[in-house]
Amino acid sequence: MMGYFPNGTSGDVYQEEYCSRCVNWRDSGDGRGFGCPIIDLHLLWNYDAVGVGANKTKHEALAHFIPIDGINNARCLMFQEVKPTTTIQYKYCSRCDNPTIDAIEKIEGVLCAACASKLEKALLAR
Ligand SMILES: [Zn+2]
Repeated sequence: MMGYFPNGTSGDVYQEEYCSRCVNWRDSGDGRGFGCPIIDLHLLWNYDAVGVGANKTKHEALAHFIPIDGINNARCLMFQEVKPTTTIQYKYCSRCDNPTIDAIEKIEGVLCAACASKLEKALLAR
């Protein structure tokens, strides 16, 4: 059996569960266009592929991408979850003004490793 969306709501639920987290999903961002080739085929062929006189080839194509698991549409074969990107937090050194990811907090302010090292050497040399 192939995945089947009897109404718009079941399509929306599926898109929320899988498509919205998939690298293959495209969204123009302005409400004019969104989707992926698999969902497009399901929408185009939904009625050709089910019921009396159904097109066997279309049915098999749709079933290949989104199989049915019991009564639920199973995960799409093309589903590839978007990995969340990690954002690196930079701080700026109060001495040299360079961005640093391993800032050291001192009484003198936020310092990069190089400036913190120079400061320590200067203090030891006193
Ligand atoms: Zn510095």
